[in-house]
Amino acid sequence: MSIKANLLEVKKSLRDNVELVAVSKYHSIEETREAYDAGQRDFGESREQELRLKHEALPKDIRWHFIGKLQTNKVKYIAPYVSIIEAVDSLKLMKEIEKQAAKCNRTIDVLLELHLAQEETKSGMLPEECLAMLEEGEWREMEHVRICGIMMMASNTDDEEQIRSEFLRAKALFDDIKGKYFAQSEAFSIRSYGMSGDYLLAQECGSNHVRVGSRIFGER
Ligand SMILES: *Cc1c(COP(=O)(O)O)cnc(C)c1O
Repeated sequence: MSIKANLLEVKKSLRDNVELVAVSKYHSIEETREAYDAGQRDFGESREQELRLKHEALPKDIRWHFIGKLQTNKVKYIAPYVSIIEAVDSLKLMKEIEKQAAKCNRTIDVLLELHLAQEETKSGMLPEECLAMLEEGEWREMEHVRICGIMMMASNTDDEEQIRSEFLRAKALFDDIKGKYFAQSEAFSIRSYGMSGDYLLAQECGSNHVRVGSRIFGER
C-alpha cells in the first residue's frame, strides 16, 4: 500500500478528537512529502539534523513535533521553527527551551514526558519527579514555554493488559496534573500516547494525540 493509502486508513480509524502525528523519522524527504500531499501537516522527528534538513526542504506550514530525546545544546537549532517539543524530561531542558524561545521571540509548546514503562531504559520523569517539579513552581515564571500536556511510551511488550494499564495510568496522571496545576489552562489538553502497534488501544484509553510512524511509512 502507498503512504497515502496508509495515512488515510490510519486517519479513518481515529476519532475526530484524536490528533495524528505522522512520525517521519529515518524516512526520506520524498516520503514525507507524499504524506504532506495527502493532507498531513503534523510530523514527528527525533533527530535535530534530520529535522533541520526536512524543515528546509518541505513546505513551511508543516507543524514539526520533536518527539525524541533532546539534548540541551540542540535546543537553539530547533527553537526558531519547532511547533512542539514532546519529550521534556527535566527542568533543565525546560529552562533552556525558555531561554532559546525568548531569543526567538516566540512561545514554544511542550509536553511533560512521563516514565511509566517497566523498562529502565525508557526516558521521562517518574510521576513523583514530575509532580515535584510542578509543585516547586519555577515553570510558572517561564513566559516562552507553554506546557500543553503529557507524553509517554508504553513498555515494549506484547502483553496488552500491561500496555493498557500504563495508558490508563497516563490518563489518570494527566487528570491529576490538570486538576492540580492547569485547571485554568485551556492549552493543557494533550495526552500523547500510542504508536503504530498500539494507537487504537491508546485511543480507547484516553489518548488524544497519537504518534504513528511505521504503520504509515513502512519499516525503518
Ligand atoms: C519512533 C517513535 C514513534 C513512532 O513509532 P512507530 O512504532 O514507528 O509508530 C512514536 N513515538 C516516539 C517517541 C518515537 O520515537
